[in-house]
Amino acid sequence: GSTIGILGSGQLGRMLGMAAAQLGYRCHIFAPGQPGVAAETCAQFTGAAYHDREALARFGAACDVVTYEFENVPVAPLTALGDTPLRSNARALEIAQDRLMEKRFVADLGGATAPYAVVDGSADLEAAMRRIGTPGILKTQREGYDGKGQWRIDTGAAAERLSLPAKPLIYEGLVRFAAEFSVILVRGTDGDIRFWDSPRNEHADGILVRSSVPVSYAMAGQVATARELGSAVAQALDYTGVLTLEFFATDAGPVFNEMAPRVHNSGHWTIEGARTSQFENHIRAICGLPLGDTTTIVPAVQMTNLVGEQANAWASVLADPANHLHLYGKTMRDGRKMGHVTRLVLEEPAA
Ligand code: ATP
Ligand code: MG
Ligand code: MG
Repeated sequence: GSTIGILGSGQLGRMLGMAAAQLGYRCHIFAPGQPGVAAETCAQFTGAAYHDREALARFGAACDVVTYEFENVPVAPLTALGDTPLRSNARALEIAQDRLMEKRFVADLGGATAPYAVVDGSADLEAAMRRIGTPGILKTQREGYDGKGQWRIDTGAAAERLSLPAKPLIYEGLVRFAAEFSVILVRGTDGDIRFWDSPRNEHADGILVRSSVPVSYAMAGQVATARELGSAVAQALDYTGVLTLEFFATDAGPVFNEMAPRVHNSGHWTIEGARTSQFENHIRAICGLPLGDTTTIVPAVQMTNLVGEQANAWASVLADPANHLHLYGKTMRDGRKMGHVTRLVLEEPAA
Protein backbone atom coordinates (compact mmCIF):
# COMPACT_ATOMS: atom_id res chain seq x y z
CA GLY A 1 0.00 0.00 0.00
CA SER A 2 1.06 3.57 -0.48
CA THR A 3 -1.05 5.71 1.86
CA ILE A 4 -0.15 5.97 5.54
CA GLY A 5 -2.65 7.24 8.11
CA ILE A 6 -1.28 9.07 11.15
CA LEU A 7 -3.37 9.57 14.28
CA GLY A 8 -2.25 12.87 15.81
CA SER A 9 -0.92 15.99 14.15
CA GLY A 10 1.94 17.42 16.19
CA GLN A 11 5.58 17.75 15.25
CA LEU A 12 6.16 14.00 15.51
CA GLY A 13 3.48 13.41 12.87
CA ARG A 14 4.98 16.12 10.75
CA MET A 15 8.47 14.57 10.88
CA LEU A 16 6.96 11.12 10.18
CA GLY A 17 5.16 12.63 7.21
CA MET A 18 8.41 14.11 5.89
CA ALA A 19 10.16 10.73 6.16
CA ALA A 20 7.20 9.00 4.51
CA ALA A 21 7.20 11.50 1.65
CA GLN A 22 10.89 10.83 1.02
CA LEU A 23 10.07 7.14 0.58
CA GLY A 24 7.26 7.94 -1.85
CA TYR A 25 4.29 7.48 0.47
CA ARG A 26 1.43 9.87 0.98
CA CYS A 27 -0.02 10.50 4.42
CA HIS A 28 -3.44 11.27 5.79
CA ILE A 29 -3.52 12.94 9.19
CA PHE A 30 -6.34 12.28 11.65
CA ALA A 31 -6.59 15.04 14.20
CA PRO A 32 -9.43 16.54 16.16
CA GLY A 33 -10.15 20.26 16.07
CA GLN A 34 -7.60 22.54 14.49
CA PRO A 35 -5.24 21.13 11.89
CA GLY A 36 -1.94 20.69 13.69
CA VAL A 37 1.47 21.35 12.23
CA ALA A 38 1.58 17.93 10.61
CA ALA A 39 -1.59 18.56 8.68
CA GLU A 40 -0.49 22.03 7.57
CA THR A 41 2.73 20.73 6.17
CA CYS A 42 2.38 17.42 4.49
CA ALA A 43 -1.01 15.85 4.43
CA GLN A 44 -4.75 15.83 4.48
CA PHE A 45 -6.71 16.73 7.57
CA THR A 46 -9.93 15.08 8.69
CA GLY A 47 -10.98 17.40 11.51
CA ALA A 48 -12.99 14.69 13.28
CA ALA A 49 -12.86 13.74 16.96
CA TYR A 50 -10.90 10.65 18.01
CA HIS A 51 -14.08 8.91 19.16
CA ASP A 52 -15.94 9.57 15.88
CA ARG A 53 -16.27 6.00 14.63
CA GLU A 54 -17.68 6.99 11.25
CA ALA A 55 -14.75 9.29 10.58
CA LEU A 56 -12.34 6.57 11.71
CA ALA A 57 -14.01 4.09 9.35
CA ARG A 58 -13.57 6.52 6.43
CA PHE A 59 -9.99 7.15 7.51
CA GLY A 60 -9.25 3.43 7.66
CA ALA A 61 -10.78 2.92 4.23
CA ALA A 62 -8.58 5.67 2.76
CA CYS A 63 -5.32 4.29 4.23
CA ASP A 64 -3.28 1.14 3.71
CA VAL A 65 -1.82 1.23 7.22
CA VAL A 66 -2.51 3.46 10.25
CA THR A 67 -0.01 4.53 12.92
CA TYR A 68 -0.06 6.99 15.82
CA GLU A 69 2.24 9.80 16.89
CA PHE A 70 0.35 10.48 20.12
CA GLU A 71 -0.36 7.91 22.83
CA ASN A 72 -3.54 9.43 24.22
CA VAL A 73 -5.77 8.43 21.33
CA PRO A 74 -8.87 6.65 22.75
CA VAL A 75 -8.39 2.94 22.11
CA ALA A 76 -11.94 1.49 21.93
CA PRO A 77 -13.09 3.41 18.81
CA LEU A 78 -10.06 2.22 16.82
CA THR A 79 -11.86 -1.01 15.90
CA ALA A 80 -13.74 1.25 13.44
CA LEU A 81 -10.56 1.35 11.32
CA GLY A 82 -11.74 -2.02 10.00
CA ASP A 83 -9.29 -4.26 8.17
CA THR A 84 -6.61 -1.59 7.84
CA PRO A 85 -3.72 -2.63 10.10
CA LEU A 86 -2.92 -0.41 13.09
CA ARG A 87 0.82 -0.35 13.75
CA SER A 88 1.84 -0.58 16.42
CA ASN A 89 -1.25 -2.22 17.85
CA ALA A 90 -4.05 -1.09 20.17
CA ARG A 91 -2.63 -3.09 23.11
CA ALA A 92 0.64 -1.12 23.03
CA LEU A 93 -1.36 2.10 22.99
CA GLU A 94 -3.61 0.97 25.84
CA ILE A 95 -0.69 0.08 28.10
CA ALA A 96 1.50 3.07 27.32
CA GLN A 97 -1.32 5.57 27.93
CA ASP A 98 -1.78 4.47 31.54
CA ARG A 99 1.06 4.88 34.06
CA LEU A 100 -0.32 2.14 36.29
CA MET A 101 -0.72 -0.40 33.49
CA GLU A 102 2.71 0.32 32.06
CA LYS A 103 4.42 -0.04 35.45
CA ARG A 104 2.68 -3.37 36.10
CA PHE A 105 3.46 -4.59 32.60
CA VAL A 106 7.14 -3.73 32.90
CA ALA A 107 7.42 -5.12 36.45
CA ASP A 108 5.94 -8.44 35.20
CA LEU A 109 8.77 -8.58 32.67
CA GLY A 110 11.35 -8.09 35.45
CA GLY A 111 11.89 -4.32 35.14
CA ALA A 112 12.46 -2.08 38.17
CA THR A 113 10.14 0.90 38.68
CA ALA A 114 9.95 3.70 41.25
CA PRO A 115 7.95 2.70 44.34
CA TYR A 116 4.38 3.84 43.66
CA ALA A 117 0.83 3.84 44.98
CA VAL A 118 -2.51 4.54 43.35
CA VAL A 119 -4.17 7.67 44.75
CA ASP A 120 -7.91 8.32 44.48
CA GLY A 121 -8.46 11.00 47.10
CA SER A 122 -6.63 12.86 49.85
CA ALA A 123 -6.80 9.94 52.35
CA ASP A 124 -5.06 7.71 49.79
CA LEU A 125 -2.38 10.34 49.26
CA GLU A 126 -1.61 10.46 52.99
CA ALA A 127 -1.35 6.67 53.09
CA ALA A 128 0.83 6.63 49.97
CA MET A 129 3.17 9.25 51.41
CA ARG A 130 3.41 7.33 54.67
CA ARG A 131 4.22 4.07 52.89
CA ILE A 132 6.58 5.41 50.23
CA GLY A 133 7.95 8.48 51.97
CA THR A 134 8.76 11.98 50.75
CA PRO A 135 9.83 13.56 48.56
CA GLY A 136 7.67 12.12 45.82
CA ILE A 137 5.83 13.06 42.66
CA LEU A 138 2.08 12.87 42.23
CA LYS A 139 1.07 12.26 38.60
CA THR A 140 -2.20 11.88 36.77
CA GLN A 141 -2.44 8.25 35.76
CA ARG A 142 -3.28 9.24 32.19
CA GLU A 143 -2.73 12.06 29.70
CA GLY A 144 0.29 13.90 31.12
CA TYR A 145 3.19 15.06 28.95
CA ASP A 146 6.11 17.48 29.33
CA GLY A 147 5.63 17.27 33.11
CA LYS A 148 2.02 18.54 32.92
CA GLY A 149 -0.29 16.87 35.41
CA GLN A 150 2.52 16.37 37.96
CA TRP A 151 3.12 17.79 41.40
CA ARG A 152 6.32 17.38 43.34
CA ILE A 153 5.56 16.84 47.03
CA ASP A 154 8.28 17.49 49.60
CA THR A 155 6.29 17.51 52.83
CA GLY A 156 2.92 16.56 54.24
CA ALA A 157 2.08 20.24 54.65
CA ALA A 158 2.69 20.81 50.95
CA ALA A 159 0.38 17.89 50.13
CA GLU A 160 -2.41 19.39 52.24
CA ARG A 161 -2.27 22.61 50.25
CA LEU A 162 -2.83 20.74 46.96
CA SER A 163 -6.31 20.59 45.51
CA LEU A 164 -6.30 17.21 43.85
CA PRO A 165 -7.87 16.86 40.41
CA ALA A 166 -10.82 14.44 40.28
CA LYS A 167 -8.89 11.88 38.25
CA PRO A 168 -7.00 8.70 39.08
CA LEU A 169 -3.51 9.63 40.28
CA ILE A 170 -0.34 7.81 41.09
CA TYR A 171 2.20 8.79 43.76
CA GLU A 172 5.81 7.87 43.00
CA GLY A 173 8.77 8.01 45.31
CA LEU A 174 11.44 10.38 43.99
CA VAL A 175 14.18 8.29 42.37
CA ARG A 176 17.72 9.48 43.12
CA PHE A 177 19.37 9.14 39.77
CA ALA A 178 22.83 9.87 38.38
CA ALA A 179 21.34 10.56 34.95
CA GLU A 180 18.37 9.79 32.73
CA PHE A 181 18.55 7.97 29.40
CA SER A 182 16.20 6.41 26.89
CA VAL A 183 16.20 3.19 24.93
CA ILE A 184 14.94 3.82 21.40
CA LEU A 185 14.32 0.72 19.35
CA VAL A 186 12.52 -0.25 16.19
CA ARG A 187 10.88 -3.62 15.56
CA GLY A 188 9.89 -4.82 12.10
CA THR A 189 6.87 -6.92 11.18
CA ASP A 190 9.28 -9.90 10.99
CA GLY A 191 10.40 -9.39 14.62
CA ASP A 192 13.78 -7.84 13.73
CA ILE A 193 14.77 -5.40 16.54
CA ARG A 194 17.37 -2.64 16.24
CA PHE A 195 18.51 -0.06 18.77
CA TRP A 196 19.88 3.40 18.28
CA ASP A 197 22.57 4.53 20.67
CA SER A 198 20.88 5.56 23.89
CA PRO A 199 20.91 9.30 24.56
CA ARG A 200 21.41 10.85 27.96
CA ASN A 201 18.39 13.10 28.62
CA GLU A 202 18.35 16.27 30.70
CA HIS A 203 15.05 17.73 31.85
CA ALA A 204 14.06 21.05 33.42
CA ASP A 205 10.59 21.45 35.00
CA GLY A 206 9.55 18.11 33.50
CA ILE A 207 10.42 19.16 29.92
CA LEU A 208 13.22 17.57 27.94
CA VAL A 209 15.96 20.14 27.46
CA ARG A 210 18.76 18.15 25.83
CA SER A 211 19.58 14.66 24.56
CA SER A 212 23.23 13.73 24.05
CA VAL A 213 24.92 10.71 22.52
CA PRO A 214 26.92 8.82 23.64
CA VAL A 215 26.03 8.30 27.29
CA SER A 216 28.98 8.17 29.68
CA TYR A 217 31.13 5.07 29.84
CA ALA A 218 29.86 4.51 33.38
CA MET A 219 26.27 4.17 32.10
CA ALA A 220 26.96 1.69 29.31
CA GLY A 221 26.19 -1.35 31.49
CA GLN A 222 22.84 0.13 32.51
CA VAL A 223 21.95 0.73 28.88
CA ALA A 224 22.63 -2.94 28.12
CA THR A 225 20.27 -4.05 30.92
CA ALA A 226 17.64 -1.53 29.83
CA ARG A 227 17.83 -2.77 26.23
CA GLU A 228 17.00 -6.29 27.37
CA LEU A 229 13.87 -4.95 29.02
CA GLY A 230 13.09 -2.96 25.87
CA SER A 231 13.32 -6.12 23.73
CA ALA A 232 11.14 -8.04 26.17
CA VAL A 233 8.49 -5.29 26.08
CA ALA A 234 8.54 -5.11 22.27
CA GLN A 235 8.25 -8.87 21.91
CA ALA A 236 5.54 -9.24 24.54
CA LEU A 237 3.46 -6.61 22.74
CA ASP A 238 4.26 -8.01 19.27
CA TYR A 239 5.23 -4.43 18.61
CA THR A 240 5.77 -2.83 15.19
CA GLY A 241 7.63 0.46 14.74
CA VAL A 242 9.66 2.70 17.02
CA LEU A 243 9.27 2.18 20.77
CA THR A 244 10.91 4.37 23.42
CA LEU A 245 11.50 3.59 27.09
CA GLU A 246 12.74 6.22 29.57
CA PHE A 247 15.04 5.19 32.42
CA PHE A 248 16.77 6.59 35.48
CA ALA A 249 20.37 5.40 35.86
CA THR A 250 20.78 4.63 39.57
CA ASP A 251 23.31 2.90 41.84
CA ALA A 252 21.01 -0.13 41.78
CA GLY A 253 20.80 -0.21 37.97
CA PRO A 254 18.27 1.17 35.50
CA VAL A 255 14.85 2.13 36.85
CA PHE A 256 12.04 2.28 34.25
CA ASN A 257 10.15 5.59 34.20
CA GLU A 258 7.69 5.40 31.31
CA MET A 259 7.36 4.32 27.73
CA ALA A 260 6.15 5.97 24.56
CA PRO A 261 4.74 3.71 21.80
CA ARG A 262 6.11 5.99 19.12
CA VAL A 263 8.99 8.07 17.88
CA HIS A 264 10.35 10.24 20.68
CA ASN A 265 11.84 13.67 21.29
CA SER A 266 15.03 12.05 22.63
CA GLY A 267 15.47 10.42 19.20
CA HIS A 268 15.37 13.60 17.10
CA TRP A 269 19.18 13.54 16.93
CA THR A 270 18.92 10.46 14.66
CA ILE A 271 17.77 12.62 11.73
CA GLU A 272 21.31 13.91 11.18
CA GLY A 273 23.24 11.66 13.59
CA ALA A 274 22.34 8.12 12.54
CA ARG A 275 22.42 6.27 9.23
CA THR A 276 18.65 5.89 9.40
CA SER A 277 16.47 8.21 11.49
CA GLN A 278 13.80 7.05 13.93
CA PHE A 279 11.19 8.56 11.59
CA GLU A 280 12.36 6.69 8.49
CA ASN A 281 12.67 3.42 10.39
CA HIS A 282 9.20 3.82 11.87
CA ILE A 283 7.80 4.25 8.34
CA ARG A 284 9.83 1.30 7.08
CA ALA A 285 8.63 -0.87 9.96
CA ILE A 286 4.91 -0.10 9.66
CA CYS A 287 5.08 -0.55 5.87
CA GLY A 288 6.76 -3.95 6.20
CA LEU A 289 10.01 -2.80 4.55
CA PRO A 290 13.48 -3.93 5.68
CA LEU A 291 14.77 -1.78 8.55
CA GLY A 292 17.61 0.68 8.01
CA ASP A 293 20.96 0.78 9.79
CA THR A 294 20.68 2.58 13.15
CA THR A 295 24.42 3.22 13.59
CA THR A 296 25.51 6.67 14.81
CA ILE A 297 27.65 8.27 12.11
CA VAL A 298 29.70 10.69 14.23
CA PRO A 299 31.55 10.48 17.57
CA ALA A 300 28.92 12.53 19.42
CA VAL A 301 25.62 14.35 18.87
CA GLN A 302 23.72 16.92 20.92
CA MET A 303 20.06 17.78 20.43
CA THR A 304 18.67 20.80 22.25
CA ASN A 305 14.98 21.69 22.34
CA LEU A 306 13.82 25.21 21.59
CA VAL A 307 11.11 25.79 24.16
CA GLY A 308 8.82 28.85 24.04
CA GLU A 309 10.70 32.06 23.25
CA GLN A 310 14.01 30.25 22.79
CA ALA A 311 12.82 29.63 19.25
CA ASN A 312 13.02 33.41 18.60
CA ALA A 313 16.81 32.99 18.52
CA TRP A 314 16.60 31.00 15.27
CA ALA A 315 18.72 33.51 13.35
CA SER A 316 21.69 33.10 15.67
CA VAL A 317 21.20 29.32 15.62
CA LEU A 318 21.40 29.41 11.83
CA ALA A 319 24.52 31.58 11.95
CA ASP A 320 26.57 28.65 13.29
CA PRO A 321 27.18 26.15 10.48
CA ALA A 322 27.44 23.28 12.99
CA ASN A 323 23.75 23.65 13.84
CA HIS A 324 20.89 21.84 12.15
CA LEU A 325 17.77 23.89 12.88
CA HIS A 326 14.29 22.39 12.98
CA LEU A 327 11.26 24.63 13.54
CA TYR A 328 7.83 23.05 13.80
CA GLY A 329 5.76 26.02 12.64
CA LYS A 330 3.71 26.09 15.86
CA THR A 331 2.08 29.10 17.47
CA MET A 332 4.32 30.40 20.25
CA ARG A 333 3.35 29.59 23.82
CA ASP A 334 5.44 29.52 27.00
CA GLY A 335 6.74 26.04 27.73
CA ARG A 336 5.77 24.76 24.28
CA LYS A 337 8.28 22.78 22.20
CA MET A 338 8.73 25.01 19.15
CA GLY A 339 11.71 23.35 17.51
CA HIS A 340 15.10 21.79 18.14
CA VAL A 341 18.75 22.14 17.16
CA THR A 342 21.06 19.24 16.46
CA ARG A 343 24.86 19.55 16.58
CA LEU A 344 27.10 16.83 15.26
CA VAL A 345 30.53 16.52 16.88
CA LEU A 346 32.71 15.50 13.96
CA GLU A 347 36.01 14.80 15.75
CA GLU A 348 36.86 12.36 18.50
CA PRO A 349 37.64 14.29 21.71
CA ALA A 350 41.40 14.50 22.37
CA ALA A 351 42.42 11.71 24.77
P1 ATP B 1 7.13 13.18 28.75
O1 ATP B 1 7.08 14.51 28.07
O2 ATP B 1 8.50 12.55 28.78
O3 ATP B 1 6.04 12.22 28.33
P2 ATP B 1 5.76 13.17 31.31
O4 ATP B 1 4.92 14.37 31.53
O5 ATP B 1 5.10 11.89 30.95
O6 ATP B 1 6.90 13.54 30.28
P3 ATP B 1 7.57 11.91 33.22
O7 ATP B 1 8.46 11.35 32.19
O8 ATP B 1 6.81 11.00 34.08
O9 ATP B 1 6.58 13.00 32.64
O10 ATP B 1 8.43 12.88 34.16
C1 ATP B 1 9.13 13.97 33.60
C2 ATP B 1 10.47 14.08 34.29
O11 ATP B 1 10.29 14.31 35.70
C3 ATP B 1 11.31 12.82 34.22
O12 ATP B 1 12.02 12.71 33.00
C4 ATP B 1 12.24 13.05 35.43
O13 ATP B 1 13.21 14.02 35.16
C5 ATP B 1 11.26 13.61 36.46
N1 ATP B 1 10.64 12.51 37.20
C6 ATP B 1 9.45 11.93 36.95
N2 ATP B 1 9.17 10.95 37.83
C7 ATP B 1 10.21 10.88 38.67
C8 ATP B 1 10.54 10.07 39.82
N3 ATP B 1 9.71 9.14 40.27
N4 ATP B 1 11.73 10.30 40.43
C9 ATP B 1 12.57 11.27 39.97
N5 ATP B 1 12.32 12.06 38.93
C10 ATP B 1 11.16 11.88 38.27
MG1 MG C 1 5.18 10.74 29.27
MG1 MG D 1 8.84 11.23 30.26
